[in-house]
Amino acid sequence: MTCIIDFHTHAFPDLVAAQAIPALEEAGKVTACLDGRIESLLVSMNEAGIEKSVLCSIATRPEQFTSILSWSESIRSERIIPFPSFHPDAPEALEQISAIKKAGFSGIKMHPYYQKFVLDEERMWPLYERITAEGLILVMHTGFDIGFPRERIADPLKIVTVVDRVPELKFVATHFGAWDLWDEVDDMLIGRPLYLDLSYALHLLPKAKAKAMALAHPEGYLLFGTDSPWARQREVMAQLSELGLDVRLETKILGENAARLLSS
Ligand SMILES: [Zn+2]
Repeated sequence: MTCIIDFHTHAFPDLVAAQAIPALEEAGKVTACLDGRIESLLVSMNEAGIEKSVLCSIATRPEQFTSILSWSESIRSERIIPFPSFHPDAPEALEQISAIKKAGFSGIKMHPYYQKFVLDEERMWPLYERITAEGLILVMHTGFDIGFPRERIADPLKIVTVVDRVPELKFVATHFGAWDLWDEVDDMLIGRPLYLDLSYALHLLPKAKAKAMALAHPEGYLLFGTDSPWARQREVMAQLSELGLDVRLETKILGENAARLLSS
């Protein structure tokens, strides 16, 4: 049996979830499939046969660093792999990156829209270099975001600039490369040794295009992800299997690639 790993999920402390989910639903004009609590994510994982979920937190203000780190420590388990977050505006951002590593986490999540940065702006380079030096994985929201105006702050050209300049960075571009910029992903990212998670994309892309992109990408660099609670894990697994990839490739996407990356 493959160990299935969802590389892109979200959840919140129970009290925060009750407020955050309705606010995010309103901002994105979307409906959550879960209530945003860890317990609900675990139920969804059990239903879908998912062994582990990478849980991405986003510090929308510098002051949230400590509470996100300690919450991440309190929820980590065999099945929940938290990726904490720091805010690039924090004066102590570099130390916070090292603190995330020291606390034993494998990666960090960043989001240019919620954290108000541009992927390739000057102040980002020392941060990427520290993340690289610590050997941490960086899951970066890429492409447009459903809850924000369409500013080009995380498009495929900017992703290329980052990974060319910091080639050792374990950079994961989300949403099949860049959300709702898939023609540019196809031109600029597909075929490069760059990790792509498949979250919140398979239900929007024509099947033939998604399949062609998956087949043209290095097979060790595709990661199953759902963006739960914004999609149902079970349904995203079905969407992946509907692409009709061969079992070997599907097995890599569902968990082998993620397991290797997480232990790298
Ligand atoms: Zn997400």
